[in-house]
Amino acid sequence: MVFRERSATMTARIADLYRRMEMAYDLVARQLDFTCQGCPDNCCDSYFLHHTYVEWAYLWQGIIELAPAQRKIIENRASDYVTACEEALTKDERSQVMCPLNEEGRCILYQHRLMICRMHGVPSSLIFPNGQSKKFPGCFRCQEIVGDRQVVPEVERAPLFRELVALEQELCGGQQGKLPKVKKTIAEMILLEPPTLSLPH
Ligand code: SF4
Ligand code: SF4
Repeated sequence: MVFRERSATMTARIADLYRRMEMAYDLVARQLDFTCQGCPDNCCDSYFLHHTYVEWAYLWQGIIELAPAQRKIIENRASDYVTACEEALTKDERSQVMCPLNEEGRCILYQHRLMICRMHGVPSSLIFPNGQSKKFPGCFRCQEIVGDRQVVPEVERAPLFRELVALEQELCGGQQGKLPKVKKTIAEMILLEPPTLSLPH
């Protein structure tokens, strides 16, 4: 597993990138006076796919620190999650199942949650190298707060994405392009165990 080798450098760098994502999010949330407090919904049941080995590995770094009994519970929930997703797929539906890492409304691996978990909520944009951009309006509650404001603060994802991609490239090294593409739910990442790559030290 990637972080079985305990690459302190890679661990510190992904943790630092995640911290800066969080700061960027918090800044926009403060500007909008937006919090998740009192939300009647919980977006941890949204269906998301994740695309990097580096995030998968860092998630697993959190998982291996859990007690065996709790890991078992999570694996069972992950298995149920995957089954529910498969059933939804056969009906051509998008599943809405609570993430196996959510307990009583809270993320039990909050420090290891993935990028999309850190971005969802507030408005953000992604400017592509060709100058085009894609807008993400944030969650339904945030959209209510934004209303018809003309000027809306937002997180710019591009520099953060670039850093994540750079970490991914470094992690995959010479194997990049030869490895299967990652396109997985958190539940699948849990059930598949950690990716097996060698980390630079
Ligand atoms: S991000 Fe939005 S939908 Fe998700 S818990 Fe927070 S307020 Fe609710
Ligand atoms: S990893 Fe944590 S924050 Fe992300 S969807 Fe799962 S429970 Fe929610």
